[in-house]
Amino acid sequence: MRIDLHTHSSCSDGTDTPAALVAAAAAAGLDVVGLTDHDTTAGWAEAAQTLPEGLGLIRGSEFSTQLARAEGGTMSVHLLGYLFDPADPAIMAEQARLVAERRGRGLAIVAKMNADGVPITPERVLAIADGAPVGRPHIGRALVEAGLVGSVTEAFAGYLAGRGKYYVHKQDTDLDAAVSMISAAGGVSVLAHPWSRGARSVLTPERIAQLKERGLSGIEVRHPDQDEDTRAELLGVAADLDLIVTGSSDYHGHNKTLELGQERTSAESLARIIETSSGVVEPIGVQW
Ligand code: AMP
Ligand code: ZN
Ligand code: FE
Ligand code: FE
Repeated sequence: MRIDLHTHSSCSDGTDTPAALVAAAAAAGLDVVGLTDHDTTAGWAEAAQTLPEGLGLIRGSEFSTQLARAEGGTMSVHLLGYLFDPADPAIMAEQARLVAERRGRGLAIVAKMNADGVPITPERVLAIADGAPVGRPHIGRALVEAGLVGSVTEAFAGYLAGRGKYYVHKQDTDLDAAVSMISAAGGVSVLAHPWSRGARSVLTPERIAQLKERGLSGIEVRHPDQDEDTRAELLGVAADLDLIVTGSSDYHGHNKTLELGQERTSAESLARIIETSSGVVEPIGVQW
């Protein structure tokens, strides 16, 4: 079975509508796709309603979380939540807070750029986001349109870089709280690309073990941002802690140069995710 459990639609910072995404997933030969937009479940209904025959859908979200660093400050960590109750009051409140936080932070980044003479407008960035939680890739597309960079990826190497001149922090959910919140809402949590972008120093095997005590179920091992050596080490961590191992493309449409299904999850891991969930939200159309 070809299973890709981490993708983004235009309901966050991907470029395919949920309908186009499930169509592309079927065309790519996937048997199951996970829709995991950042901090929102807004794409679930359209994906379910337009799901092609023969394609299974796992409804999820990628939660923006943070972890304190020993030397002060915080490290951003992404947490995938699957099959949780989208109407859970704590999750709804936190996603609403994060959407507002993203909007304010996106506009603050644009204001910093404008103060420096970079000619993009807040109106254009909000129009590109088109109601989705604002992310740096939306600003990247405005920079591409203005002819300042050739691609969103190039924007991330300069204007949008995490340690760059225009970076603005956003206040994400505490990671431990997010794991608890997903469990309380009947869902299953999986650390997204745990050892990408410097998070390895804070997400130590000991820290991952503590998260498991709180309810963490799995870690994403096969991800484009994790090389072979990193994957081998993460597989060892998963085996030691009996965590579910996943693999995913983190597809973002045209905002990233990734193919649907380029990294995949085993049927056994998917079965464990489904068994671990409370059943409040069911997989749709998964055929074993
Ligand atoms: P934000 O959530 O606003 O902090 O923006 C981070 C998002 O941008 C993540 O979802 C990444 O997948 C995406 N991203 C990070 N690096 C790149 C890149 N080089 N090219 C395109 N998108 C990226
Ligand atoms: Zn993204
Ligand atoms: Fe992520
Ligand atoms: Fe992602």
